[in-house]
Amino acid sequence: MQTDIEIAQAAEVWPIEKIAEKAGLTAAEWEPYGRDKAKISVDESARQDGLGKLILVTSINPTPAGEGKSTVTVGLADALSLAGKKTMVALREPSLGPVMGLKGGATGGGYAQVVPMADINLHFTGDFHALTSAHNTLAAVIDNSIYQGNPLNIDPRRLLWKRALDVNDRALRHITIGLGGPTSGVPREDGFDITVASELMAILTLSHDLMDMKARIERIVIGYTYDKEPVTVKDLGVAGALTTLLKDAIKPNLVQTLAHTPTLIHGGPFANIAQGTNSIRATKTALQLADYVVTEAGFGADLGGEKFLDFKVPLLGKTPDAIVIVATVRALKMHGGLPKTELTEPNLDALSAGLANLGQHLKSMSRYGVPVVVAVNRFVSDTPEEIEMVEKYVRERGAEAYMADVWAQGGAGAPELAQAVIAATEQESQFTPLYAPEDDAVTKIEKIVQTIYGGAGVELSDKAAKQLREFAKRGWDKMPVIMAKTQYSLSDDAKKLGAPTDFKIHVREFVPKLGAGFLVALTGSILTMPGLPSHPAAYDIDIDENGQITGLF
Ligand code: ADP
Repeated sequence: MQTDIEIAQAAEVWPIEKIAEKAGLTAAEWEPYGRDKAKISVDESARQDGLGKLILVTSINPTPAGEGKSTVTVGLADALSLAGKKTMVALREPSLGPVMGLKGGATGGGYAQVVPMADINLHFTGDFHALTSAHNTLAAVIDNSIYQGNPLNIDPRRLLWKRALDVNDRALRHITIGLGGPTSGVPREDGFDITVASELMAILTLSHDLMDMKARIERIVIGYTYDKEPVTVKDLGVAGALTTLLKDAIKPNLVQTLAHTPTLIHGGPFANIAQGTNSIRATKTALQLADYVVTEAGFGADLGGEKFLDFKVPLLGKTPDAIVIVATVRALKMHGGLPKTELTEPNLDALSAGLANLGQHLKSMSRYGVPVVVAVNRFVSDTPEEIEMVEKYVRERGAEAYMADVWAQGGAGAPELAQAVIAATEQESQFTPLYAPEDDAVTKIEKIVQTIYGGAGVELSDKAAKQLREFAKRGWDKMPVIMAKTQYSLSDDAKKLGAPTDFKIHVREFVPKLGAGFLVALTGSILTMPGLPSHPAAYDIDIDENGQITGLF
């Protein structure tokens, strides 16, 4: 069996001008970045075309068994193209940390992939480098301001802005800087976040244009003064420089699927401490260019899905026309208690128990008033009886499940799913938001916990409760809430698989992200700088004298 990279390397990749033409871009709207990638900048207001149909792909809670959300996103788009529909994909950019850490990229798999796969998973068009540079420029400016007499009265013990790197490096989580005597700065504790966790990443993906981005950057709160007053990037006076560093990164990147469906890949914020979807600009542009846009939200429907619907939709100004929930028989069996080593064995009891996880997501996504379709990402070990059990379970709950055999067959592996999605987008739908913008933070979180997670309610730590009282005084308490929770469980305990009930979500701390425009609610121990596993993927990656890469995936 061929690996993902072997399939990608054997693919016929069209020159990017042909993809730009297929997407309907005018010559002024794109600039080549090599032979098979382009940066695009479409003026939203100049294009008066109506918007296409938006299809949101989300999933059950991820397990180490893999769900293949990106694979289904790409395969569904190719299936829609095969059905004669003008389609585009809008995906996130992969972070290098996980690429070198755990096996698995973000460009799909098998015959449902985006190319050039290696480039996209490595340095792509440099967006992450620009973000890392901008992030660390701000960090350097903050420390320099403290060193140069501290005119802003910044309290070095109350800084929120750390440094950033797109590498999984646990040794950098907590560091001491400024050592080496009076000419080397002021010693203090610091740390690194992975670049995708930077507020600048969230901002890049939320900004409509350069001036919107600059205004958002100005609002970033980097820490507090000795009098506990917030200090912003505007106070430091470097929003212009940071925006300049991001002038090209703000432009979406154009590539293609193996079947030449035009694809925009842009921005990659985490789906726990940020919104977890590709950029507003890329989604909007795709909607202006294509009749069907397939996009994906990170992790499960409880994290990325909820954030897409409650946070991104109002900013995008467009609600989805259909929601696709991806499930696999293997992952459902894990939710039913089966260990990873036994997933290839048929086991209807474990599947039956694990289906409750799909059931909760089906219920929570259906409440938004948008038609929901289930896609079963087919693995070779799935038996007909297992697949039938999933289909029956979904049908009993008023929806339909369809096979997606796109990993093995590309778009040709999901004709029925494509037709079902087209039909779903044609149904009348009335989007029903989960909460009102004016709801306070606790009300918002309660609605998320009770309706989306199926839990009982929320418990705030003393610190979190005190923070909310302070935020209320500053008018920050009405911002949308971004839940930073484990992706593995509907609860905040990663070990509670399936569909737990009667649990409470414990918020230990809030982090205000004024530039991005949300409050992060930290639950459990959320890491913003991952580590490498005992056998990092980096051990298996190699390149030969012809530049041929192996082992990327
Ligand atoms: P997600 O988006 O849920 O993280 P991906 O689509 O990136 O998942 O897939 C993760 C990995 O699983 C990829 O290497 C892909 O090739 C593999 N994969 C996905 N679907 C299948 C499948 N049906 N059969 C075998 N491998 C698959």
